[in-house]
Amino acid sequence: MKNILLKFLKNQTKCSHKNALLNTKSGYCPDCGQYLEKNYYIVRCMGCGIKRNAKVYLDEIVPTEKFCSNCGCRGYYIEKTDDINFIDANYAICIKEPACEYQNLHVKEQIWVDPKSSGLKKITKMS
Ligand SMILES: [Zn+2]
Ligand SMILES: [Zn+2]
Repeated sequence: MKNILLKFLKNQTKCSHKNALLNTKSGYCPDCGQYLEKNYYIVRCMGCGIKRNAKVYLDEIVPTEKFCSNCGCRGYYIEKTDDINFIDANYAICIKEPACEYQNLHVKEQIWVDPKSSGLKKITKMS
């Protein structure tokens, strides 16, 4: 009995949700039953604010390079974005995650440094 339960839990944490949210932004994963949201994240340089190439490593979003190719800064922050344009799509990491869970852990504050995002800034502040 114990083994079956452990196996079940193990499978659940391992689920990659690959069959979930194929055409929708949120919904239940058909493989594990979790309610998921499709979220996009962008990694930006702490020094100069440019978008940095990113990848998912051990469930963490990390920049591909250790240092910013623009200013040499090592620091970075993760920005969540709801509206993804096709330029950002090159940098954005799409993650299917349990609703409301990931952003609480990883995105404590949103800093909009791109002047093009001023529209987003206002929307974020109002809500
Ligand atoms: Zn799943
Ligand atoms: Zn930089």
